[in-house]
Amino acid sequence: TEPAPETAVPQTGDPNLTLLHRIGTVDPASLDDYRAHGGYTALRRAFDLGPAAVIREVTDAGLVGRGGAAFPTGRKWQATAAQPDHPHYLVCNADESEPGTFKDRVLMEGDPYALIEAMTIAAYATGAHQGHLYLRGEYPRALARLTHAVEQARTRGLLGDDVLGQGYAFDIEIRRGAGAYICGEETALFNSIEGRRGEPRSKPPFPVEKGLFGKPTVENNVETLVNVLPILTMGAEAYAAIGTPTSTGPKLFCVSGTVARPGVYELPFGATLGELLALAGVRDNLRAVLLGGAAGGFVRPDELDIPLTFEGTREAGTTLGSGVVMAFDDTVPLPRLLLRIAEFFRDESCGQCVPCRVGTVRQEEALHRIVDRTGAGAAGDITLLREVGRAMRDASICGLGQTAWNAVESAIDRLGAYE
Ligand code: NAD
Ligand code: SF4
Repeated sequence: TEPAPETAVPQTGDPNLTLLHRIGTVDPASLDDYRAHGGYTALRRAFDLGPAAVIREVTDAGLVGRGGAAFPTGRKWQATAAQPDHPHYLVCNADESEPGTFKDRVLMEGDPYALIEAMTIAAYATGAHQGHLYLRGEYPRALARLTHAVEQARTRGLLGDDVLGQGYAFDIEIRRGAGAYICGEETALFNSIEGRRGEPRSKPPFPVEKGLFGKPTVENNVETLVNVLPILTMGAEAYAAIGTPTSTGPKLFCVSGTVARPGVYELPFGATLGELLALAGVRDNLRAVLLGGAAGGFVRPDELDIPLTFEGTREAGTTLGSGVVMAFDDTVPLPRLLLRIAEFFRDESCGQCVPCRVGTVRQEEALHRIVDRTGAGAAGDITLLREVGRAMRDASICGLGQTAWNAVESAIDRLGAYE
């Protein structure tokens, strides 16, 4: 695949930023430049603290997963570290595939050593000696830069048998996905690495207990891992002072759609949706904003005061998910957009369970009928959509089926999509 153009990154390189500050200023091919920009200070501090204290810092910082589910990272690390079964594995989920999500790509392309350093810290804290980085297949530039960075880190003693001369062994294998959205689900991802079909497993058992190759595994998203660096360099207390008491730290938002300056924005949790859209240059004729991606939900232009926190979006009846903020002005045909989302889920359903395999097809058919009839007689199909949606949400094995109706439901209920 030909590399896509560099993603627009309006805010990078600002020294006041926590996660994007090196991007655009550091040479992603140079380990020396990474070190000159503060690289490997966090790993040194981790070795000084020891594994248990590193987990305590991450817990005290209040870090929660940035892939979309917001599970407490310290709890995950603690649970993995405590498992008597060995070996332990670390898996970095870099299969960023949620439509409208491109923040991990910016981190990996612009600051690849940061991810390698963060993975080393996570592995050290949880007792793992082998890391797997599962990278989205459509990210060839990230693959090239990370491959080079892993090789350089090995050559310079920052990966391998004796990391930083501390007697700790750790190495990273990069695995490339093959384009299936479902392989971003952590257990489908494990199956993919193991050479099996990319189908989700039932949980529990959770990966912290039985993950990759049936062994205790800590699985974290790219952005989650990169947050560990400022936690260790500035300390848990200073980190937790960023954002709100319940959503701590900085967050990357992927702004796209009908805005003047699409790209990745870093803001502390708690900024409002309106403030973010003002940075990105929203237009006057805004019709709707999709939060959280295809699995998320729409909000109206009169709801822009929603605080961008996990709890704030939940209270507003939507989700922050992986940080997708997609704006649509009134020139975008909403019914066609919903149909496109439904096609996506039908296409990406792995087919393992009936509610999702059949439900995503029925959903798409009903939306097709509504579009073909330009909305006339939609009431019967909307009733059907609600029934199918409820069945998918209640009975699907994994998050794909459980959320495949979210966007359509919110478009009907909040936007009056077919009125
Ligand atoms: P989940 O809530 O089932 O799990 C979240 C994480 O917490 C997992 O790692 C899970 O193993 C762990 N966990 C949950 N309960 C646990 C327990 N009791 N003990 C130990 N660990 C536990 O969510 P999920 O299905 O893994 O992810 C769903 C999210 O993924 C959605 O919010 C969606 O926004 C997001 N998503 C992101 C992308 C992307 O490209 N970033 C793509 C698709 C979906
Ligand atoms: Fe596969 Fe869909 Fe079932 Fe998930 S919900 S296991 S994607 S069929």
